[in-house]
Amino acid sequence: MALEKLSESLKNALRRVFRASLIDPKLIDDLVSEIRKALIAADVNIELASKIAESIRKRSLAEKPAKTLTAREHTINIVFEELTKFLGAEEGKVEAKAKLTKILLVGLYGSGKTTTAGKLAKYFKKQGLKPALVQLDVWRPAAYEQLSQLSEKVKVPFYGVKDEKDPLKIIKKFEPDFSRFDIVIFDSSGRDALNKELISEIRNVRDALKPEHVLLVISGDIGQAARRQAEAFHEAAGVNGVIVTKLDGTAKGGGALTACAATNAKVKFIGLGEHIEDFEEFKPKNFVSRLLGMGDLETLLEKAKEAISEETAEKLGKKILKGDISLTDLYQQMEALKKMGPLSQIMNMIPGMGAANIPKELLNVQEEKMKVWKFVMDSMTPQEKDSPDIISARRIERIAKGAGRPEQDVRDLLKQYAQMKKVMKMMGNPKQMQKMMKMFGGKLPNLPA
Ligand code: GDP
Ligand code: MG
Repeated sequence: MALEKLSESLKNALRRVFRASLIDPKLIDDLVSEIRKALIAADVNIELASKIAESIRKRSLAEKPAKTLTAREHTINIVFEELTKFLGAEEGKVEAKAKLTKILLVGLYGSGKTTTAGKLAKYFKKQGLKPALVQLDVWRPAAYEQLSQLSEKVKVPFYGVKDEKDPLKIIKKFEPDFSRFDIVIFDSSGRDALNKELISEIRNVRDALKPEHVLLVISGDIGQAARRQAEAFHEAAGVNGVIVTKLDGTAKGGGALTACAATNAKVKFIGLGEHIEDFEEFKPKNFVSRLLGMGDLETLLEKAKEAISEETAEKLGKKILKGDISLTDLYQQMEALKKMGPLSQIMNMIPGMGAANIPKELLNVQEEKMKVWKFVMDSMTPQEKDSPDIISARRIERIAKGAGRPEQDVRDLLKQYAQMKKVMKMMGNPKQMQKMMKMFGGKLPNLPA
């Protein structure tokens, strides 16, 4: 885990509170002095560490515990809240919009840009989005190979021109292709320091790309010096978010995180190792609760959610293979899937389905449509829902009246159902599937036998 040492010392400090029979001012003083020491040992700026300690002390002495909390829980909660506050209270999500989102990664040599590009691609792919990687690092000789290999690992398209020295030419060459993706992630050149040359290169690239996000990649091992770096990059290059890497291997991570949180460019992600998976969204609350050994509720909930969707995916997978699905099934599945996230993500969990380029329109059922369908289905008989084939023009008229919707809505639902059923049947049959993919202009590698 990240910041192991800091976590150990903070947990030790909190143990005082757990063990004490009485929470008195002396105990609070000892607690905050230990927390302060722990923070400074993690390279948190001394002033900042004192400020955090002081606000914990003040609040613990002044505030009365809420009725539902014991004095102990009250104190621990204050520690939790104050630490969270200085790590950036609100999480800085990187939103991927419906249309193409461009992310430009910038930073010094060895900060982890290229590695992070691969990690980000995987992160977005897991969400069911379609990312691509572009190499604009024209300085480091092996940059092209490094990212190209990463892209193979993550199974994401890669763009780059070996030996090209002008990043703007690379952009121009591939620009028409970008709109095919949801997210395009651009790696860029570093330097040993933020010098004029690097600033001008970043600005040129930024002006050509007009990226939605310019994310600074900072190595956590520089500790509180991260603040100066983040501010300098922000000023020179309009950075609007930070990714702190290498938090796995440094005792100074606490300094880097608090320093970045204090700048205008908030921490969005953290890197926790060399592998593609060692990466997560930075959620201060979760991070601090793990740091304090309080468990990470949200991550747990997410895992539970994943488990459910796997189960649902399996059931759905079986139905798909048989190609038999009633209107009620379809609706229930869609409802469940809607709650759990994009259908494409679920598809990734079904063995062999992940590779299938299923047309997006079929995967993204809109909220609005679901509502209308619900009305329509509510005025159908169970028999009609089970075997929609029996629905005649007369029945359509009746259903529409009952639902208070135009007949066209009923027809739309039936059409969608028929289409879905056809797709599902095809998915059960590799040859058909290949044919369908050709129809949609997509490629379909590695189908299950
Ligand atoms: P770039 O020069 O900014 O592109 O940096 P690279 O992506 O090439 O990374 C430099 C080195 O740091 C490589 O050896 C990576 O494996 C390593 N690295 C990157 N991120 C992490 C991380 O989160 N944890 C650890 N332990 N190593 C990392
Ligand atoms: Mg690189």
